[in-house]
Amino acid sequence: IDKQTGLRLDNQFAREVQCMYVRWQPEPAPAPRWLQFNDALAQELGLDAQALRSDAGLAVFSGQRIPEGAEPVAQAYAGHQFGHYSPRLGDGRALLLGEIVNASRHRFDLALKGSGPTPFARNGDGKAAVGPVLREFLIAEAMHALGVPTTRVLAAVATGESVRRERALPGAVLARVAASHLRVGSFEYAARAEDAALLGRLAEHAITRHAPHLQGQPQRHLGLLEQVVERQAQLIAQWMGLGFIHGVMNTDNMTISGQTIDYGPCAFMEHFDPEEVFSSIDHDGRYAWANQPAIAHWNLSRLAETLLTLIDTDADRAGALAMAAIGKFEKQLSAHWSALLRSKVGLPDGGEAADLLATEFMHLLQRYEVDFTLGWRRLGDAAAGNEAPLRALFGAHAAALEDWFARWRAMFGTVPGAERAQAMAKVNPMVIPRNHLVEQALAAASDYDDLAPFERLLDAVRRPFEPRDDDDIYIQPASREETASYRTF
Ligand code: AMP
Ligand code: MG
Ligand code: MG
Repeated sequence: IDKQTGLRLDNQFAREVQCMYVRWQPEPAPAPRWLQFNDALAQELGLDAQALRSDAGLAVFSGQRIPEGAEPVAQAYAGHQFGHYSPRLGDGRALLLGEIVNASRHRFDLALKGSGPTPFARNGDGKAAVGPVLREFLIAEAMHALGVPTTRVLAAVATGESVRRERALPGAVLARVAASHLRVGSFEYAARAEDAALLGRLAEHAITRHAPHLQGQPQRHLGLLEQVVERQAQLIAQWMGLGFIHGVMNTDNMTISGQTIDYGPCAFMEHFDPEEVFSSIDHDGRYAWANQPAIAHWNLSRLAETLLTLIDTDADRAGALAMAAIGKFEKQLSAHWSALLRSKVGLPDGGEAADLLATEFMHLLQRYEVDFTLGWRRLGDAAAGNEAPLRALFGAHAAALEDWFARWRAMFGTVPGAERAQAMAKVNPMVIPRNHLVEQALAAASDYDDLAPFERLLDAVRRPFEPRDDDDIYIQPASREETASYRTF
């Protein structure tokens, strides 16, 4: 235990998964300053927020001091990036400090990102800038509040150093909390390692961490694969329902835990366009909104390949079992997606007819380029009898809703519209992190040291389902011009 901060860190990964890492030290930040501390997360983890908010905490989160008990390691992993295999990626600018075990005996990784180059850095500088660090903090908090499994940021500190990007930017480090940092790419690395026993050790560790009910069972590796398939099916359905575009679904950015990780070029779409892409490097739209299920399936197939030798010593049998596990993904995703659509459209009891109505509604959103988030949210108001806000979103095309409205209302049955509206307001958020607001908040923090816009936006995205006034800035879509030129990096 670290006396100054109360942090108690274990190192189960480093003990159990010899040697898929390099012991490494963070580069101390020259002049650290707090950007943001996540009190809510500290509380959930059972940490001493007051002790962590101190200068001793600042020293830990800026890489100046290693907490007692921590054995920082840079994890090795491989990965398919845009479909191309890289045998050696790894934590180029991140370090796992250790694991926190909370009161309910759940284990969480605590890792620094932006703490200096490691042996995996290749040409990278190992650093991070204030903007992207705060972006990860904000989007992760939004996702958590929206009910999506996600890694989160416990602390963000400015380093007092400038980092060279297209221009010089203020540097920062974040402390990330994750159920684990095990990725599909971790298994790709282990499966091709010279040490033939590494894969087995990694799998045992993953099972201990994420599927303890499978420990000791002969078919535990197949069970692990099935669990990852199921969790990713659930996760991707949730992303889709929120208009979330991850942006860089490489296999090294897909977790075994089922949490969202790596908030680099992600963004929420504005007007509904299934082909929407924001990432500046995704030229072919590989990671477009509508492609995410197929890409997840492709990534899971890469995971399945790595597990074959553990699933069965007979290659044919292993192949058949793995194929069957992967084969469930599409069905599971579509079951989650249907359930979600039905609740979004206010007809959880509506069966396939509700799926159809919801899909038709999305076609209307797409055809008339209506804001995805507000379109769904205003549909809830319409269920309660207030159709004007939804009509307003459709503008001159509002008449196109009439026929759909009639068929929709005909399905309400004995459940009053107001009751349906209440349930809809719990699945259709009012607030997502709007791209233009995120950029404004990050620019103020990065260019003018002004955290106030960031904190106001953070507060808004942490309460995504609460009603807000029509003219509230946190619900307004960006202009079409802003959205058309919006790029993430
Ligand atoms: P990502 O695209 O964020 O998933 O990162 C892919 C790989 O690049 C990972 O191995 C990262 O650790 C590494 N990487 C990204 N940015 C940097 C950086 N500035 N310095 C060193 N490594 C980096
Ligand atoms: Mg990554
Ligand atoms: Mg990244």
